[in-house]
Amino acid sequence: MAFSHLSHLECSWTGERYDADAVQGVSAAGKPLLARYDLAAAAAAVTPAEIASRPHTLWRYHELLPVREAANVITLGEGMTPLVPMPTYGAAIGVPNLLMKDEGLVPTGSFKARGAAVGVSRAAELGIKGVAMPTNGNAGAAWAVYAARAGLTSLIAMPLDAPSITRAECVAAGAELYLVDGLIGDAGKLVNQAVASRTGYQEVSTLKEPYRIEGKKTMGYEIAEQLGWTVPDVILYPAGGGVGLIGIHKALLEMQAMGWIGEKLPRLVAVQAEGCAPLVRAFEQGARESEPFPDARTVAFGITVPKALGDFLVLDAVRETGGTAIAVSDDDLLAEVQAVARTEGAFVCPEGAACFTAARQLRESGWLGEGEQVLVLNTGAGIKYPETVPVDVPTLAKDGAIPAGGER
Ligand SMILES: *Cc1c(COP(=O)(O)O)cnc(C)c1O
Repeated sequence: MAFSHLSHLECSWTGERYDADAVQGVSAAGKPLLARYDLAAAAAAVTPAEIASRPHTLWRYHELLPVREAANVITLGEGMTPLVPMPTYGAAIGVPNLLMKDEGLVPTGSFKARGAAVGVSRAAELGIKGVAMPTNGNAGAAWAVYAARAGLTSLIAMPLDAPSITRAECVAAGAELYLVDGLIGDAGKLVNQAVASRTGYQEVSTLKEPYRIEGKKTMGYEIAEQLGWTVPDVILYPAGGGVGLIGIHKALLEMQAMGWIGEKLPRLVAVQAEGCAPLVRAFEQGARESEPFPDARTVAFGITVPKALGDFLVLDAVRETGGTAIAVSDDDLLAEVQAVARTEGAFVCPEGAACFTAARQLRESGWLGEGEQVLVLNTGAGIKYPETVPVDVPTLAKDGAIPAGGER
């Protein structure tokens, strides 16, 4: 029985076929390549009931993942993050049936570990010795640690403003790390030049290799499995490059083709920050592709992507599912970090908080109905962003006193 039913790669723009067992980057059209599977064979090989008894990692869906041999799987136990009900916060914003999928609980504290686990495993399987990428922080940290586990070298460049903990993660894992006085696009140009002048590295920037998205799509499989092979009414996703949203949409279509879920698809919502909202702008203008967003800046650093390679795939997914795209302000999302923690005890990342803010605003505008089942992706752990909560509290002398009766 095949471990993977990967059949070929396909240009997401022209549909042209590519060999999946050679190292590939983007298509001849310069667009992302998508992995395609023999879905009929996969559906014949495994049933949802069999998957239920497998280990609780994303590799439980291995027939629909690109790694050919079980022995080539590089894993730190990523996947099967909990779906946490958010009843108190949900009731407060008028969405009582609110769920959070908590991606803060995967290795490295962000969902980038999903893409890294599958991307690094497949890279190593294809004989690649080193991976190189620009990053807003979390992806670099994730690829650095999985590269280390696979015995690959990693070359990573990130903006100076990226969360500082992600630097430490790269250094700890032995990555060759550079800080760049600029944005992720600037870091990308430097990495691109370095890869061109060196041998033995593959550039693994967002959607410039085909397998990161395969790791991220497992969020879609998990959501359906965790809801008893049904889907929620709405999924809100903080979109930078949009890989997670494209991946969830891809997973939904694969599951439909295999008969694992029914006709209904969730409305997919791309959430961005007002300071960097190219996808929202394109959505509102009815455009299929986005324009580079000028002077991009937001505290939700993981979604500071002024121009995404897969923008048309995000916009297609949003439109085809009857979803929407919405931008929220930094002030609002920072307030939401604390609102969520105070009502539910969940310390979410700023990107996740942007989605909670969007849920609140979409309910206020009536776009979300009260009875709907709404799922928010918290894409990372709040503890990776300690500076998002200003800690303004008294310091006491050793012989001081704590005020009686809650005067603070
Ligand atoms: C990278 C990242 C995102 C955005 O992911 P894309 O796949 O680029 O859309 C969202 N949240 C966090 C915490 C991230 O690190």
